[in-house]
Parts: sequence; structure tokens; C-alpha cells
Amino acid sequence: MKLMFLGPPGAGKGTQAKMTCERYGIAHISTGDMLRAEIKSGSELGLKAKAVIDAGELVSDEIIVAMVENRLKQDDCKNGFLLDGVPRTLAQAGAMEAFVKLDAVIDIEVPSEFLVDRICTRRVCVACGATYSVKTLKGTACEACGAELIQRPDDTEETVLNRIAVYDAQTKPLVEYYKNKGIVKYIDGTGEISAVFGDIAKELDKL
Ligand code: AMP
Repeated sequence: MKLMFLGPPGAGKGTQAKMTCERYGIAHISTGDMLRAEIKSGSELGLKAKAVIDAGELVSDEIIVAMVENRLKQDDCKNGFLLDGVPRTLAQAGAMEAFVKLDAVIDIEVPSEFLVDRICTRRVCVACGATYSVKTLKGTACEACGAELIQRPDDTEETVLNRIAVYDAQTKPLVEYYKNKGIVKYIDGTGEISAVFGDIAKELDKL
């Protein structure tokens, strides 16, 4: 199963992607997670990417496409994979046609008035990557592994508004691009996490 999850920042892509990969036994490929790992390791790529990410802008298409092409060669992708947050531009999608043929694109739709609040109240575990909302969080540590929770540096209100604008201008056209290939499944992302996942699984079980 070769999937891609599309949707604005705060739509719940990461959470739903993790649940989907567990259920179907496929690799989770998040370019955002890969870039944050580069920043954490202090690599040259991480240093270059940090300023771009913190401003809510996009890392260059060449870097992203090369990163994904290498990642897809790894063994854990043999059973299938889920692309989370990539491609993010028409240029990335075009370049990736050379090495990826997707079975389905899940477009998680959430109106913009929900997004800023969702992202600004989001906290992420530094160890396992689990995400929480401060609105429902009990205590201050990760409920899954006990490690520290932080706010991503690009989850501030100013950066979020730019990320949403960048999504509308550069990523949203991909819905039309994949619609023309007949592989888009639309999912309402405004409900409870488990309800949204139920809708996604219903679509994927048909494949
Ligand atoms: P995410 O975790 O998917 O929200 O990504 C966080 C940030 O990483 C984005 O705001 C971009 O700056 C960068 N990024 C992640 N994936 C891509 C991509 N496919 N193309 C360009 N930049 C990306």
C-alpha cells in the first residue's frame, strides 16, 4: 500500500498517519520528522533547514526529493509506505513520479478557523513524538513515555498563519493534481481522532 496524507497544518495528519501505519504495517515517512531529526543532530542540512522551518517556509524541492528517494530505498518500505507532509509542491510531486506510484491520497479537510487554535495548543513529546492538546492534557509529561513535552518552535501563532498561507498557495493545488489521477479520498478531519481514523480505515480497506 503506497499512500500519501494531504491536509493543512493542524489537520491531524501526523496522528492519523501513525495510527494508519500501525494498522497496515507500512513505513511512516514524515519529511517534517526527518528534518527535525537533522536539526537535532546538528548536521549541515539541519542547520540550513532550521531557519526556513522556524519561519514556516518550505525547504527546497531538490533537498526534499533526494531525501525521500533515499528513504524509500530502505527495507522497511518494501511492504508499503505512507508519505506524511510530502510532496508539498507541484514540483515535488512531478519529480517524485519518477520513483513513486501512489495507490491513494487521503485529503484530511479541516476549515482554517480550527487550525490556529489546534496548532497553538499542541505539545509534542521530545522522546516519542506523541502529540497532545494542552486543553485535554493531564499533568505536564508525556502520557505514553513520561518524557518532556515541548511546543514546536514553528507552532507559534505568527508562524502558523504563514504555514497556512504557504499550504493554500503551494500545497493545496496538489488536491486537484491527484484528483485528476482519480486517487483522492476526502476525509472530514474535524471530528474526534478515533472517528476520523474510522473514516480513513473504511476508505483504505476498500483498496
Ligand atoms: P511538518 O512537520 O510536516 O509540519 O513540517 C514542518 C516544516 O518542515 C514545514 O513547515 C517545512 O518548513 C518543512 N517541510 C516538511 N516537509 C516538507 C516538504 N515536503 N517540502 C518542503 N518543506 C517541508
